[in-house]
Amino acid sequence: MSTIQENKNIRLSQWSAFTKAKCPRCRVGNTFSGPTYGFKVQQMNEFCPHCKLKFEREPGYFYVAMFVSYAMNVAEMVTVSVAAYIFGLKLDYENLWYFVALLFGTTLVFSPFNYRYSRMILLYWLSPGLNYEPERSKNN
Ligand SMILES: [Zn+2]
Repeated sequence: MSTIQENKNIRLSQWSAFTKAKCPRCRVGNTFSGPTYGFKVQQMNEFCPHCKLKFEREPGYFYVAMFVSYAMNVAEMVTVSVAAYIFGLKLDYENLWYFVALLFGTTLVFSPFNYRYSRMILLYWLSPGLNYEPERSKNN
């Protein structure tokens, strides 16, 4: 067996597949086309290019990702606010607009990340019946 084939047969761990935005069923196909951050807009593939899993399992399936994204956004805002306070931005009325600008910037910077990983969290951990099937990761 050549090294290229051996490398393709290495199974990704769940966390590794999650961070690389691989299909939750085969962990080979990419869930998104395009990078998270870049000039090319990221788009979610309709089907897994490897195992043909339809990612939108039912109509309106990704509305739930909106709630996940909301929770991620709140967590990021709280983290950034606490960090700003620790690094010296006092919680005064005069600093109100600094905090507003900081949180608005945080939301903008993290929105591509939240878009991608809210859907990945939904696919990996909030979808009953959608599990890793190692036999699907083999080359057809
Ligand atoms: Zn797949």
